Amino acid sequence: MTQALETLAIHGGAEPDPTTKARITPIYQTASYVFDDADHAARLFGLQEFGNIYTRIMNPTCDVLEKKITALEGGVGALAVASGHAAQFLAFHTLMEPGCNIVAASRLYGGSLNQIGHSFKKFGWDSKFVDASDPANIAAAIDENTRCVFIESLANPGGIVMDIAAIAKIAHDAGVPLIVDNTMATPMLCRPFDHGADIAVYSCTKFLNGHGNSVGGLIVDSGKFDWAASGKFPTLTEPNSSYHGVVLNDALAPIGPIAFIIACRVLGLRDLGPAMAPMNAFLTLTGMETLALRMERHCANALELATWLQDHPKVKWVSYAGLPGDAYNGLAQTYLGGKGGAVFTFGVKGGMEAGVKLVSSVKLFSHLANIGDTRSLIIHPASTTHSQLEPHELETAGAAPDVVRLSIGIEHIDDIKADLAQALEQI
Ligand SMILES: *Cc1c(COP(=O)(O)O)cnc(C)c1O
Repeated sequence: MTQALETLAIHGGAEPDPTTKARITPIYQTASYVFDDADHAARLFGLQEFGNIYTRIMNPTCDVLEKKITALEGGVGALAVASGHAAQFLAFHTLMEPGCNIVAASRLYGGSLNQIGHSFKKFGWDSKFVDASDPANIAAAIDENTRCVFIESLANPGGIVMDIAAIAKIAHDAGVPLIVDNTMATPMLCRPFDHGADIAVYSCTKFLNGHGNSVGGLIVDSGKFDWAASGKFPTLTEPNSSYHGVVLNDALAPIGPIAFIIACRVLGLRDLGPAMAPMNAFLTLTGMETLALRMERHCANALELATWLQDHPKVKWVSYAGLPGDAYNGLAQTYLGGKGGAVFTFGVKGGMEAGVKLVSSVKLFSHLANIGDTRSLIIHPASTTHSQLEPHELETAGAAPDVVRLSIGIEHIDDIKADLAQALEQI
């Protein structure tokens, strides 16, 4: 019997420690592991047997985190890495070749726009950003060199919900996988594989960990994409010279459809190196045990606050998919169980000056650049994260001078409301 997500968040992947009987997964703070004998070592290095070699490639604490997210997502395997950006990098590295391109939604986490749009150019990986709220724009952008489509299920920061099933179909018709960044929704609101996505990536710095105490990332493989049929992914379907000519997709087939996630580990992570520290895996595992409870409270608080802000005399507009009248509420019903997550934006009357005054006047809210903490967080993008942009660019980036972004924590709603009320009063 498959267990409920609330149960899997606690028990998924986590048995009592087999050697010490410790109930909580220990922090395996070791760089390396002893081989049984020379033959064992050779089998591990030759991929004839899976096991611990060196913590850059795998670690028992990280392994439990990988199994937990695999259980929550309903995938076939996962890989824990140093950060959300490292997860994206390794997922793309496995799929891309020089001269190929990524078709991505234009509404993404700002750091992802930089990574995909600027830094990847050095590898010869091109990108095309389109308004993915109309999936037809994705279909129009795909060409013969496209190797994947990348979206966020619930986009940061605008609270925009993507039509995952429609976009997955467009990607599959073109013979490429759909990668979904599920950081903001988490498996508690959305399981992208249920809607046709092939790969999920996470910044577990945010809601999965949930306490703002470590940086980390995850890649999850659905096992559903047919790499051989597509024929566009030589890393998976052609002989690999760093493994004596092994074809990963063929060699791993007897174990399962795990070629993609194994390649992310034994090629991407092995050679590029952004491994997750076992301590950070432990902190993330501890945080994830309360994911279901936290997401319930995050969403309930955010909905109540957004509803209250809508009628506030100093507020121009509120953009939150959880609100019944919101443009994305229909998609939130389909993909997020009607919830809107914890992060949303609103417009404060009085533009730039009012925004700066507001973030300077809060007391309970922390003024900082992060989301997904137990604490309520606030930022005014135009004067911080987006301050390098020209006025017309601010508008298209969803960071106009009046925009304020909130990440609502799990404090009591009355205290959250009271703090924002007194800060709005100062304007
Ligand atoms: C924070 C974030 C990232 C990047 O993750 P890091 O852990 O900071 O590297 C990627 N996507 C989304 C949606 C994020 O919020």
